[in-house]
Amino acid sequence: MSGMSLPRAEVVVDLEAIRHNVRLLASRAAASGAETMAVVKADGYGHGAVPVARAAVEAGATWLGVASLDEALALRNAGLTTRLMSWLDTPDVDFAPAVERDIDVSVSSTGELARAVDAAARVGRRARVHLKIDTGLSRNGCPAELWPTLVKAAAAEDGVEVVGMWSHLACADEPGHPATEAQAERFAAAYAVAREAGLSPLRHLANSAATLTRPDLHFDLVRPGIAVYGLNPVSQPEDLRPAMTFRSSVVLTKRIRAGESVSYGQTWTASADTTVALVPVGYADGVPRTLSGRLSVWLNGTRRPVVGRVCMDQLVVDCGDDEPELGAEVVLFGTGEGGMPTATEWAEKIGTIDYEIVTGMYRPRVRRRY
Ligand code: PLP
Repeated sequence: MSGMSLPRAEVVVDLEAIRHNVRLLASRAAASGAETMAVVKADGYGHGAVPVARAAVEAGATWLGVASLDEALALRNAGLTTRLMSWLDTPDVDFAPAVERDIDVSVSSTGELARAVDAAARVGRRARVHLKIDTGLSRNGCPAELWPTLVKAAAAEDGVEVVGMWSHLACADEPGHPATEAQAERFAAAYAVAREAGLSPLRHLANSAATLTRPDLHFDLVRPGIAVYGLNPVSQPEDLRPAMTFRSSVVLTKRIRAGESVSYGQTWTASADTTVALVPVGYADGVPRTLSGRLSVWLNGTRRPVVGRVCMDQLVVDCGDDEPELGAEVVLFGTGEGGMPTATEWAEKIGTIDYEIVTGMYRPRVRRRY
């Protein structure tokens, strides 16, 4: 991939990698008798929700999960008819479009249940709801003392179909963490309350980490997100393929002499004569400025250090005695093959998680291609 047609800043998403990852996750789930919900919130973790959702469904996902009704409606409007759940809507959101478009919603309280019932009455169909149980994350989710109230209210309500009961794990990415056992126990207790009320909803608890490491927690449905995109949240090796490559190209090369400095603050000075390449991506395109002095890129099949500060729109690469062609591809992060930098490596360097790196690539200045 070289040549002057290269864009300034581009994310390339490998949909075959998405399909590969979903096949792997869905086969793990199927081995425990569970179905797979591919989580495509935050515009498919920065990869593009609609293309990712289509690829995930082709590869065996039978559900899609998003955070908001807007995200769910965008998928429906794109023609996706797969079972679809939205779980984090603000109290002012009207559930009527969800009922009309066959989108499942999450309900943590009798107040939210009432909103679903009201929407169902207006639309003239039952609302499909999943009861969200707080098992230890202390975000939304019904607290233990209110499980019976919520469950009984939902069971007694003709306007809703209780499709699921679900919760979310806090520490699944640290296999063996005692919090996971505690959450699993509380989840089982909440489910027993549902059974006593005559309900038998689908149970779902597992994120990517639990899908990969805890088959006993797969229940009826797993909800992997990050692993769909090929990033592994646990340390055990898995055959996952990172789907996102962030790339740019060389727009200028020049020879600089020993003693000359590069970029704002002149924080780097050449110790010998060298060739530097200018690459037109910067922190406005998602390259963290805090990586200045610690970043390398993949150029002509090898790693080259970025020297001096990362600027808003550009950065400078030290190429030594190499002279890359104008338009040569520069990979900021990608699959990791051959030693290419990865989003995970960026995350480790700046003290965050690769989730933040890839979701942060959803920006208007960065073109996306499949
Ligand atoms: N389920 C819920 C409720 C989530 O919020 C998320 C993501 O944050 C996921 C599943 C997927 O988690 P992961 O990306 O760790 O697989």
